[in-house]
Amino acid sequence: MQIKTAGHDESYSVYTVLKSFFWFETVSEKPACGDPDECVSTKRQENGILYIDTEISYKGSTYRASSERREDDMPADTLSYKRAFKDLVKKSAYEASKSAAGADLKWGILTGIRPAKLARDLRKSNDYDGALKTLMDDYYVSREKSELILKVSDVQSAIIDGVGCKDISLYISIPFCVSRCSYCSFVSHSIEKAGNLVHPYVSLLIRELLELSSLISSLSLNLRSIYIGGGTPTSLDENELLRLLSCVYDSFDVSKLSEYTLEAGRADTITKKKLSDAKALGVTRVSVNPQTTNDEILKKLGRRHTREDFFGAFYLAREAGFKCINTDVIAGLPGESQESFMRTVDDILTLEPENVTVHTLSVKRGSNLNYDRVDMTREFERVNGMLSYASERLSENGYLPYYLYRQKSTLGNLENTGYSKPGFESLYNVYMMEEVMPVLGAGAGAVSKLLCGGGRIERVFNYKYPYEYIDDFSKVKRNHEKLEAFLNKK
Ligand code: SF4
Repeated sequence: MQIKTAGHDESYSVYTVLKSFFWFETVSEKPACGDPDECVSTKRQENGILYIDTEISYKGSTYRASSERREDDMPADTLSYKRAFKDLVKKSAYEASKSAAGADLKWGILTGIRPAKLARDLRKSNDYDGALKTLMDDYYVSREKSELILKVSDVQSAIIDGVGCKDISLYISIPFCVSRCSYCSFVSHSIEKAGNLVHPYVSLLIRELLELSSLISSLSLNLRSIYIGGGTPTSLDENELLRLLSCVYDSFDVSKLSEYTLEAGRADTITKKKLSDAKALGVTRVSVNPQTTNDEILKKLGRRHTREDFFGAFYLAREAGFKCINTDVIAGLPGESQESFMRTVDDILTLEPENVTVHTLSVKRGSNLNYDRVDMTREFERVNGMLSYASERLSENGYLPYYLYRQKSTLGNLENTGYSKPGFESLYNVYMMEEVMPVLGAGAGAVSKLLCGGGRIERVFNYKYPYEYIDDFSKVKRNHEKLEAFLNKK
């Protein structure tokens, strides 16, 4: 579908709305050969009223909608005017898309990654009911999702209020896995294919961590949390993992951390020794992720573990003394029925993990899955039913949603939500997702995020792939100089 605009240049706002509805279609400003579908968004001014008209031609039919606002009611300052104008464009595109798609979106015109940020802003000047009304009336967010983000923002507020100006977090990237899951689109290398890179990679990562440790000390920063993620960090063998964990232990004062997470990830990488080393060297939180407890689906996904292996790995983590364990599940996996997903949630609840993260399957280009064009409404209802079931069961069992984010191309444009037993919320997830403190990133694929004020973020990228990181480590040095110069100014 081609996007055209007349009288304004907010084609990206139109794109985000169209893509939310028509996530399985190619949507672009460029004409697509042989595709007659198009969306035209036009600005019009009449009698002191600003109109945005949208006309969508889709599969041989035409759908129209308009949004309007009095010109003297538009905000005076440039930035707020721009935001209000974008919302007008999105509302018009939303109404036209709703008719064309024959479906509504639970998230309305909210297309950003972090809806809890908006909920927090609304709560500053509104009570709960006022914020709920604004989300539903002005942003077209359903009651269910509006209540969800208001709950999340309430849980997060205490965590965010506790952040100090010298606080910082550290992300350590291990871009390796034992094998590649079919739905995965992360930068992750199979150890079977790239095993020769692991030792030099860990050696250089250790060098980078030593330099970041000096940087943090020299600037008297307060390291609050460390997150070792990937990939699957426990895909490193016991010796390499011990080398890494020992370096972290020796270079940073882990006893002062509020949280230290090791993503253990797949059950087929977890051993008693890896867990006991992690515990002895200060790790406080681990993730043991089944994604589903349906053995048939696990096999199809290329995850080389079973439901029983997952249970075994979870018990090993408990026996090693971890008091905070996260488990990830995915709603919408190919071939997974509502009943199978429900069984997965119920299975997990029997283990009483402190955190459960419920993801919606994201279908991206990098993934090996070839999703057929599916009927949008059917898929949306199926996946939303799974998320609703998880939310109900987790709430009945004392969990609260504490962090939430949205990704592009998730099935039904739905969300990912982290649930926690009260007091066990993952601080790193909140710090990182809500962008309330700088996060330094170490390793290939890692990105450092620096806060510039006014909600702006500066990102410093390490090389994406381990072989680049190994081949040209001087880039890390240059990145650290940028980080130092930026943090020094603060
Ligand atoms: S374990 Fe995670 S990162 Fe690794 S291939 Fe599977 S989904 Fe991707």
